[in-house]
Amino acid sequence: MSKQDYYEILGVDRNSNDRDIKKAFRRQAMKYHPDRNPDDETAEEKFKELNEAYEVLSDAQKKAAYDQYGHAGVDPNMRGGGFDGGFSDVFGDVFGDIFGGGGGGRRSSVQRGADLRYTMELSLEEAVRGVEKTIKVPTLVPCEPCDGTGAKKGTSAKTCGTCGGVGQVRMQQGFFSVQQTCPTCRGEGKVISDPCNSCHGQGRVEKTKTLSVKIPAGVDTGDRIRLSGEGEAGGHGGPAGDLYVQVSVREHAIFERDGRHLYCEVPISFIDAALGGELEVPTLDGRVKLKVPSETQTGKLFRLRGKGVAPVRGGGAGDLMVKVVVETPVSLNSRQKELLREFQEATKDGQKKHSPKRHSFFDSVKKFFED
Ligand SMILES: [Zn+2]
Ligand SMILES: [Zn+2]
Repeated sequence: MSKQDYYEILGVDRNSNDRDIKKAFRRQAMKYHPDRNPDDETAEEKFKELNEAYEVLSDAQKKAAYDQYGHAGVDPNMRGGGFDGGFSDVFGDVFGDIFGGGGGGRRSSVQRGADLRYTMELSLEEAVRGVEKTIKVPTLVPCEPCDGTGAKKGTSAKTCGTCGGVGQVRMQQGFFSVQQTCPTCRGEGKVISDPCNSCHGQGRVEKTKTLSVKIPAGVDTGDRIRLSGEGEAGGHGGPAGDLYVQVSVREHAIFERDGRHLYCEVPISFIDAALGGELEVPTLDGRVKLKVPSETQTGKLFRLRGKGVAPVRGGGAGDLMVKVVVETPVSLNSRQKELLREFQEATKDGQKKHSPKRHSFFDSVKKFFED
Protein backbone atom coordinates (compact mmCIF):
# COMPACT_ATOMS: atom_id res chain seq x y z
CA MET A 1 0.00 0.00 0.00
CA SER A 2 1.57 3.24 -1.07
CA LYS A 3 1.33 5.96 1.49
CA GLN A 4 0.18 9.47 0.83
CA ASP A 5 2.68 12.23 1.22
CA TYR A 6 2.63 13.77 4.70
CA TYR A 7 2.68 17.29 3.32
CA GLU A 8 -0.28 16.50 1.13
CA ILE A 9 -2.19 15.01 4.03
CA LEU A 10 -1.81 18.20 5.99
CA GLY A 11 -2.34 20.33 2.91
CA VAL A 12 0.86 22.32 3.22
CA ASP A 13 3.82 22.72 0.89
CA ARG A 14 7.31 21.52 1.59
CA ASN A 15 8.59 24.93 2.57
CA SER A 16 6.03 25.48 5.33
CA ASN A 17 7.37 26.43 8.73
CA ASP A 18 6.44 24.89 12.07
CA ARG A 19 3.63 27.34 12.70
CA ASP A 20 2.00 26.72 9.35
CA ILE A 21 2.21 22.98 9.88
CA LYS A 22 0.71 23.22 13.33
CA LYS A 23 -2.05 25.49 12.09
CA ALA A 24 -2.87 23.21 9.19
CA PHE A 25 -2.89 20.17 11.42
CA ARG A 26 -5.10 21.85 13.95
CA ARG A 27 -7.60 22.98 11.37
CA GLN A 28 -7.82 19.54 9.76
CA ALA A 29 -7.77 17.60 12.99
CA MET A 30 -10.64 19.67 14.35
CA LYS A 31 -12.61 18.68 11.29
CA TYR A 32 -11.88 14.97 11.55
CA HIS A 33 -11.68 14.59 15.30
CA PRO A 34 -13.55 11.43 16.42
CA ASP A 35 -15.50 13.46 18.96
CA ARG A 36 -17.04 15.38 16.10
CA ASN A 37 -17.46 12.41 13.79
CA PRO A 38 -18.77 9.58 15.91
CA ASP A 39 -18.92 6.24 14.10
CA ASP A 40 -17.41 7.67 10.96
CA GLU A 41 -14.61 5.33 9.91
CA THR A 42 -13.42 7.51 7.06
CA ALA A 43 -12.98 10.43 9.40
CA GLU A 44 -11.21 8.23 11.90
CA GLU A 45 -8.83 6.98 9.26
CA LYS A 46 -8.21 10.51 8.09
CA PHE A 47 -7.63 11.63 11.65
CA LYS A 48 -5.05 8.90 12.16
CA GLU A 49 -3.29 9.94 8.97
CA LEU A 50 -3.25 13.54 10.08
CA ASN A 51 -1.77 12.60 13.42
CA GLU A 52 0.86 10.48 11.80
CA ALA A 53 1.79 13.22 9.37
CA TYR A 54 1.92 15.84 12.08
CA GLU A 55 3.88 13.57 14.36
CA VAL A 56 6.61 13.46 11.79
CA LEU A 57 6.48 16.96 10.39
CA SER A 58 6.34 18.68 13.77
CA ASP A 59 9.53 16.95 14.87
CA ALA A 60 12.62 18.52 13.35
CA GLN A 61 14.59 15.27 13.39
CA LYS A 62 11.85 13.13 11.91
CA LYS A 63 10.97 15.81 9.41
CA ALA A 64 14.58 15.87 8.20
CA ALA A 65 14.56 12.08 7.89
CA TYR A 66 11.28 12.15 6.03
CA ASP A 67 12.43 14.92 3.71
CA GLN A 68 15.52 12.88 2.87
CA TYR A 69 14.22 9.29 2.80
CA GLY A 70 10.49 9.62 2.53
CA HIS A 71 8.28 7.19 4.46
CA ALA A 72 11.15 4.75 4.79
CA GLY A 73 12.93 7.28 7.00
CA VAL A 74 10.13 7.36 9.54
CA ASP A 75 8.47 3.98 9.24
CA PRO A 76 5.74 3.98 11.88
CA ASN A 77 6.08 0.20 12.21
CA MET A 78 9.53 0.80 13.56
CA ARG A 79 8.37 3.21 16.19
CA GLY A 80 10.46 3.40 19.29
CA GLY A 81 9.26 4.21 22.78
CA GLY A 82 9.92 7.90 22.32
CA PHE A 83 7.49 8.02 19.47
CA ASP A 84 4.62 6.73 21.55
CA GLY A 85 5.23 9.05 24.41
CA GLY A 86 5.68 11.93 22.05
CA PHE A 87 2.34 11.35 20.44
CA SER A 88 0.35 11.93 23.56
CA ASP A 89 2.26 15.06 24.39
CA VAL A 90 1.68 16.45 20.94
CA PHE A 91 -1.95 15.62 21.33
CA GLY A 92 -2.12 17.47 24.59
CA ASP A 93 -0.20 20.38 23.21
CA VAL A 94 -2.57 20.93 20.34
CA PHE A 95 -5.84 19.85 21.87
CA GLY A 96 -5.32 20.69 25.47
CA ASP A 97 -7.28 23.89 25.17
CA ILE A 98 -10.03 22.50 22.97
CA PHE A 99 -10.91 19.06 24.18
CA GLY A 100 -9.54 19.46 27.64
CA GLY A 101 -7.43 16.36 27.66
CA GLY A 102 -3.88 15.24 27.49
CA GLY A 103 -2.28 16.45 30.67
CA GLY A 104 -3.10 14.50 33.78
CA GLY A 105 -0.19 15.22 36.05
CA ARG A 106 0.88 13.23 39.05
CA ARG A 107 -2.05 12.98 41.39
CA SER A 108 -1.81 12.58 45.07
CA SER A 109 -3.15 9.45 46.70
CA VAL A 110 -4.24 11.53 49.69
CA GLN A 111 -7.91 12.47 49.41
CA ARG A 112 -9.96 14.94 51.37
CA GLY A 113 -12.98 13.40 53.05
CA ALA A 114 -16.50 14.20 51.90
CA ASP A 115 -18.54 16.98 53.45
CA LEU A 116 -21.62 15.87 55.32
CA ARG A 117 -24.94 17.55 55.83
CA TYR A 118 -27.14 17.12 58.82
CA THR A 119 -30.59 18.65 59.04
CA MET A 120 -31.43 19.80 62.53
CA GLU A 121 -35.00 20.54 63.47
CA LEU A 122 -35.42 23.23 66.10
CA SER A 123 -38.36 24.68 67.91
CA LEU A 124 -38.87 28.40 67.42
CA GLU A 125 -37.75 29.04 70.99
CA GLU A 126 -34.52 27.11 70.44
CA ALA A 127 -33.82 28.97 67.22
CA VAL A 128 -34.44 32.34 68.85
CA ARG A 129 -32.50 31.72 72.04
CA GLY A 130 -29.81 29.39 70.79
CA VAL A 131 -29.29 25.88 72.04
CA GLU A 132 -26.68 23.21 72.47
CA LYS A 133 -27.67 19.88 70.98
CA THR A 134 -26.13 16.46 70.84
CA ILE A 135 -26.37 14.84 67.46
CA LYS A 136 -25.43 11.43 66.13
CA VAL A 137 -23.92 11.43 62.67
CA PRO A 138 -23.07 8.28 60.74
CA THR A 139 -19.71 8.98 59.16
CA LEU A 140 -16.33 7.55 58.23
CA VAL A 141 -13.54 7.91 60.76
CA PRO A 142 -9.86 6.96 60.48
CA CYS A 143 -9.35 3.30 61.32
CA GLU A 144 -7.58 3.04 64.65
CA PRO A 145 -5.57 -0.20 64.36
CA CYS A 146 -3.86 0.98 61.16
CA ASP A 147 -3.90 4.69 61.90
CA GLY A 148 -5.91 5.35 58.76
CA THR A 149 -3.27 3.97 56.40
CA GLY A 150 -5.19 0.79 55.50
CA ALA A 151 -2.02 -1.30 55.86
CA LYS A 152 -1.67 -3.87 58.63
CA LYS A 153 0.25 -2.60 61.65
CA GLY A 154 3.95 -2.82 61.04
CA THR A 155 3.56 -2.82 57.25
CA SER A 156 2.99 0.02 54.87
CA ALA A 157 1.53 0.68 51.46
CA LYS A 158 3.94 0.27 48.56
CA THR A 159 4.25 2.37 45.47
CA CYS A 160 2.21 0.77 42.68
CA GLY A 161 4.44 -1.11 40.26
CA THR A 162 2.07 -0.74 37.33
CA CYS A 163 1.93 3.04 37.24
CA GLY A 164 4.98 3.88 39.32
CA GLY A 165 2.82 5.76 41.81
CA VAL A 166 1.33 8.15 39.27
CA GLY A 167 -2.12 6.54 39.39
CA GLN A 168 -2.48 6.83 35.62
CA VAL A 169 -1.27 4.61 32.82
CA ARG A 170 -1.04 5.08 29.09
CA MET A 171 -2.88 2.48 27.04
CA GLN A 172 -2.34 1.91 23.36
CA GLN A 173 -5.65 1.65 21.53
CA GLY A 174 -4.94 1.27 17.87
CA PHE A 175 -3.12 4.39 16.91
CA PHE A 176 -4.17 6.25 20.03
CA SER A 177 -2.38 6.35 23.25
CA VAL A 178 -4.84 7.25 25.98
CA GLN A 179 -4.31 7.93 29.62
CA GLN A 180 -6.36 5.85 32.02
CA THR A 181 -6.73 5.35 35.72
CA CYS A 182 -4.30 2.65 36.77
CA PRO A 183 -6.25 -0.63 37.07
CA THR A 184 -3.88 -2.05 39.68
CA CYS A 185 -4.13 0.70 42.29
CA ARG A 186 -7.34 2.31 40.95
CA GLY A 187 -5.60 5.63 40.71
CA GLU A 188 -4.29 5.69 44.24
CA GLY A 189 -0.65 5.26 43.28
CA LYS A 190 -0.11 2.85 46.14
CA VAL A 191 -0.99 -0.75 46.77
CA ILE A 192 -1.50 -2.40 50.10
CA SER A 193 -0.21 -5.95 50.02
CA ASP A 194 -1.10 -6.69 53.63
CA PRO A 195 -4.37 -4.90 54.38
CA CYS A 196 -5.56 -4.04 57.86
CA ASN A 197 -8.19 -6.49 59.14
CA SER A 198 -10.42 -3.85 60.68
CA CYS A 199 -10.90 -1.66 57.62
CA HIS A 200 -9.94 -4.12 54.87
CA GLY A 201 -7.40 -1.67 53.53
CA GLN A 202 -9.80 1.26 53.34
CA GLY A 203 -8.13 3.19 56.14
CA ARG A 204 -11.57 4.36 57.24
CA VAL A 205 -14.39 2.70 59.08
CA GLU A 206 -18.05 3.58 59.50
CA LYS A 207 -18.92 4.96 62.83
CA THR A 208 -21.76 6.94 64.33
CA LYS A 209 -20.14 9.99 65.76
CA THR A 210 -21.75 11.83 68.67
CA LEU A 211 -21.22 15.54 68.49
CA SER A 212 -22.26 18.47 70.57
CA VAL A 213 -23.41 21.36 68.40
CA LYS A 214 -23.80 24.91 69.64
CA ILE A 215 -26.58 26.67 67.77
CA PRO A 216 -26.26 30.44 68.09
CA ALA A 217 -29.28 32.53 69.01
CA GLY A 218 -31.30 33.97 66.14
CA VAL A 219 -30.84 31.26 63.50
CA ASP A 220 -33.61 30.60 61.04
CA THR A 221 -34.62 27.93 58.56
CA GLY A 222 -31.97 27.65 55.85
CA ASP A 223 -29.05 28.76 58.02
CA ARG A 224 -26.03 26.47 58.03
CA ILE A 225 -23.48 25.94 60.72
CA ARG A 226 -20.16 24.56 59.56
CA LEU A 227 -18.27 22.22 61.80
CA SER A 228 -14.83 22.22 60.29
CA GLY A 229 -13.21 18.80 60.03
CA GLU A 230 -16.25 16.93 61.35
CA GLY A 231 -17.16 15.42 57.98
CA GLU A 232 -15.89 12.11 56.66
CA ALA A 233 -12.29 11.19 57.29
CA GLY A 234 -10.02 11.62 54.29
CA GLY A 235 -8.62 8.67 52.38
CA HIS A 236 -5.12 7.50 53.26
CA GLY A 237 -4.64 10.01 56.00
CA GLY A 238 -6.09 12.90 53.99
CA PRO A 239 -7.86 15.79 55.74
CA ALA A 240 -11.43 15.27 56.88
CA GLY A 241 -14.37 17.02 55.22
CA ASP A 242 -16.69 19.41 57.01
CA LEU A 243 -20.05 18.82 58.59
CA TYR A 244 -22.80 21.27 57.71
CA VAL A 245 -25.66 21.49 60.15
CA GLN A 246 -28.68 22.76 58.27
CA VAL A 247 -31.27 24.46 60.46
CA SER A 248 -34.96 23.82 59.97
CA VAL A 249 -37.33 25.57 62.36
CA ARG A 250 -40.61 23.82 63.15
CA GLU A 251 -43.93 25.61 62.92
CA HIS A 252 -45.07 27.16 66.15
CA ALA A 253 -48.56 26.88 67.60
CA ILE A 254 -48.81 30.61 68.31
CA PHE A 255 -46.10 32.56 66.53
CA GLU A 256 -45.17 32.93 62.95
CA ARG A 257 -41.76 34.31 62.14
CA ASP A 258 -40.77 36.53 59.27
CA GLY A 259 -37.11 37.42 59.62
CA ARG A 260 -36.76 39.61 62.71
CA HIS A 261 -40.48 39.95 63.34
CA LEU A 262 -42.96 37.64 64.97
CA TYR A 263 -46.65 37.60 64.26
CA CYS A 264 -49.54 36.26 66.30
CA GLU A 265 -53.31 36.54 66.37
CA VAL A 266 -55.19 37.21 69.58
CA PRO A 267 -58.98 36.90 69.78
CA ILE A 268 -60.82 39.71 71.51
CA SER A 269 -64.45 39.90 72.64
CA PHE A 270 -66.61 42.41 70.79
CA ILE A 271 -67.24 44.12 74.10
CA ASP A 272 -63.53 44.60 74.86
CA ALA A 273 -63.06 45.75 71.29
CA ALA A 274 -65.86 48.29 71.69
CA LEU A 275 -65.16 49.50 75.20
CA GLY A 276 -61.41 49.00 75.27
CA GLY A 277 -59.59 46.92 77.81
CA GLU A 278 -56.49 45.10 78.72
CA LEU A 279 -55.54 42.04 76.75
CA GLU A 280 -53.09 39.40 77.83
CA VAL A 281 -50.84 38.51 74.91
CA PRO A 282 -48.10 35.91 74.67
CA THR A 283 -44.48 36.72 73.87
CA LEU A 284 -41.52 34.37 73.75
CA ASP A 285 -40.51 35.70 77.17
CA GLY A 286 -43.92 35.18 78.76
CA ARG A 287 -47.23 37.00 78.90
CA VAL A 288 -47.53 40.76 78.70
CA LYS A 289 -50.49 43.10 79.03
CA LEU A 290 -51.63 44.96 75.97
CA LYS A 291 -53.89 47.97 76.33
CA VAL A 292 -56.55 47.89 73.67
CA PRO A 293 -58.25 51.23 73.10
CA SER A 294 -62.00 51.53 72.75
CA GLU A 295 -63.48 51.21 69.28
CA THR A 296 -60.78 48.76 68.17
CA GLN A 297 -61.65 47.13 64.86
CA THR A 298 -60.98 43.50 64.03
CA GLY A 299 -57.68 42.86 62.26
CA LYS A 300 -55.91 45.79 63.89
CA LEU A 301 -52.18 45.23 64.40
CA PHE A 302 -50.48 46.19 67.63
CA ARG A 303 -46.71 46.41 67.61
CA LEU A 304 -44.75 45.27 70.63
CA ARG A 305 -41.29 46.71 70.07
CA GLY A 306 -38.29 44.50 70.70
CA LYS A 307 -40.40 41.40 71.34
CA GLY A 308 -39.37 39.81 68.06
CA VAL A 309 -36.12 38.04 67.24
CA ALA A 310 -32.53 39.27 67.32
CA PRO A 311 -31.12 37.83 64.06
CA VAL A 312 -28.00 35.69 64.23
CA ARG A 313 -26.17 38.03 61.85
CA GLY A 314 -26.59 40.95 64.20
CA GLY A 315 -28.91 43.94 64.43
CA GLY A 316 -31.47 44.59 67.10
CA ALA A 317 -34.42 42.45 67.92
CA GLY A 318 -37.48 42.86 65.74
CA ASP A 319 -41.05 43.37 66.94
CA LEU A 320 -43.98 41.22 67.84
CA MET A 321 -47.04 42.13 65.80
CA VAL A 322 -50.27 41.25 67.53
CA LYS A 323 -53.34 41.09 65.36
CA VAL A 324 -56.57 41.30 67.29
CA VAL A 325 -59.51 39.40 65.88
CA VAL A 326 -62.98 40.15 67.19
CA GLU A 327 -64.84 37.03 68.16
CA THR A 328 -68.59 36.86 67.65
CA PRO A 329 -70.18 35.43 70.81
CA VAL A 330 -71.58 31.95 70.53
CA SER A 331 -73.89 29.73 72.63
CA LEU A 332 -75.85 32.66 74.03
CA ASN A 333 -78.75 31.98 76.37
CA SER A 334 -82.11 33.71 75.99
CA ARG A 335 -81.30 36.39 78.55
CA GLN A 336 -78.09 37.31 76.76
CA LYS A 337 -79.82 37.36 73.42
CA GLU A 338 -82.49 39.60 74.90
CA LEU A 339 -79.85 42.06 76.04
CA LEU A 340 -78.35 42.12 72.56
CA ARG A 341 -81.75 42.78 71.02
CA GLU A 342 -82.19 45.57 73.47
CA PHE A 343 -78.86 46.95 72.43
CA GLN A 344 -79.86 46.61 68.82
CA GLU A 345 -83.01 48.58 69.46
CA ALA A 346 -81.07 51.26 71.28
CA THR A 347 -78.68 51.81 68.36
CA LYS A 348 -81.19 51.34 65.54
CA ASP A 349 -81.50 54.96 64.51
CA GLY A 350 -77.84 55.76 64.93
CA GLN A 351 -76.27 53.44 62.36
CA LYS A 352 -74.45 56.30 60.66
CA LYS A 353 -72.90 57.20 63.98
CA HIS A 354 -72.26 53.80 65.53
CA SER A 355 -71.35 51.80 62.43
CA PRO A 356 -69.94 54.38 60.02
CA LYS A 357 -68.22 51.78 57.84
CA ARG A 358 -71.31 49.68 57.45
CA HIS A 359 -73.34 52.79 56.80
CA SER A 360 -71.08 54.15 54.06
CA PHE A 361 -70.71 50.73 52.53
CA PHE A 362 -74.45 50.29 52.06
CA ASP A 363 -74.60 53.83 50.81
CA SER A 364 -72.14 52.88 48.07
CA VAL A 365 -74.03 49.72 47.28
CA LYS A 366 -77.22 51.67 46.95
CA LYS A 367 -75.59 54.16 44.58
CA PHE A 368 -74.05 51.32 42.58
CA PHE A 369 -77.42 49.76 41.82
CA GLU A 370 -79.14 53.09 41.19
CA ASP A 371 -76.59 54.34 38.60
ZN1 LIG B 1 -1.06 2.05 39.90
ZN1 LIG C 1 -7.43 -0.21 59.29
